[in-house]
Amino acid sequence: MSINKTMQHLGEERSVIREIFECGNARKREIGEENVFDFSLGNPSVPAPPEVNAEIARLIADMPSVQLHGYTSAAGAPEVRAAVADYLKAQFGAPVSASRVYMTCGAAASLTITLAAMSEAGDEFVVVAPYFPEYRVFIEQAGGKVVEAKAAENFHLDLAAVDRAIGAHTKAIILNSPNNPTGAVYGKEELAALAALLQKKSEARGAPVYLIADEPYRELTYGAEVPCLLNIYPNTVLCYSFSKSLSLAGERIGYIAVPDACADADALFAAVCGAGRSLGYVCAPALFQRVIAKCLGRSGDIAAYRENRDLLWKGLADMGFACVPPEGAFYLFVKSPEPDAKAFCERAKKYELLLVPSDSFGVEGYVRISYCVAKETIERSLPAFAKLAKEYGLK
Ligand code: PLP
Repeated sequence: MSINKTMQHLGEERSVIREIFECGNARKREIGEENVFDFSLGNPSVPAPPEVNAEIARLIADMPSVQLHGYTSAAGAPEVRAAVADYLKAQFGAPVSASRVYMTCGAAASLTITLAAMSEAGDEFVVVAPYFPEYRVFIEQAGGKVVEAKAAENFHLDLAAVDRAIGAHTKAIILNSPNNPTGAVYGKEELAALAALLQKKSEARGAPVYLIADEPYRELTYGAEVPCLLNIYPNTVLCYSFSKSLSLAGERIGYIAVPDACADADALFAAVCGAGRSLGYVCAPALFQRVIAKCLGRSGDIAAYRENRDLLWKGLADMGFACVPPEGAFYLFVKSPEPDAKAFCERAKKYELLLVPSDSFGVEGYVRISYCVAKETIERSLPAFAKLAKEYGLK
């Protein structure tokens, strides 16, 4: 049978996270939804802000259906691209022209398109471990090679590790802040130091080392500022998504922005358009392009995520689990009390706790807990965590 073995493998293997989520659904059918503590998936748990539904209703009432639901230009509706560029300028002072904004089907599309646009034979892409597992799939599909640079103990950047990871074949580094799975938000100083390093490496190489800023969690922080990378390092391509900020994960809407000062900006943007075309994207969802144009910078109820974060990390820390309080996003990365995180997750399952082992995030010995769930789920799960802690003799 002649089919693509890589694709067959990707389809059969599925992601570890999705696998746990499906097991959780089966278990819920067996013992009841309220008895399973599913912390596997990063599906937003707060409603979209009211502006989203209001804008959907307004567009449906006001705009002729044929126009509203028809194709837009491949890069997006002109007024939407202009709104995004204006927002980036007004909010961050970031120099991006509307003509270099490309609307996408969420961050996954922003990343696959950007990687395909950049990647040439032999290229390497640096990721900071732990990292979103799909990076490996996206990079390898674009023909690139993944090179891991371990984060520091507190999950911030370890510049010496990044320095070692960047070589003669590095095309770009992917940075994700606020971070999935650690919740780290990189500060101005470490980003400025990274920019200086990338600049030095670019000069040594005689070609730019690009920075791909994967920012689906930009608005989801608990006080930490998320510096705008477009202003810190000009060779940054911003890959944004509204999946998490506006709780629109299923609607598939985001964008790519190539700043004016980016090296080879026009060629790179043309390659972005070419990559989107070759991957068959045609255009981003037309209705939601227009919706987000009126909701830029908004977010769902971050206070609810903050409440969950505080309940969970304080609760687990009190029980003796080792965890760094997340500064953003909605994940807690906890050290497994035994070296084998998969074995720990199996033990957790006895108490109906569904956690994700860190192995697929590129590090061993941790678990990820997604706290984008109902507050009651966290409250009711704490006694189960306490039993688990007792099994390991913590505290
Ligand atoms: N990048 C990171 C770090 C993510 O956590 C996710 C989704 O969880 C994505 C990209 C993909 O987001 P989207 O649903 O917008 O494609």
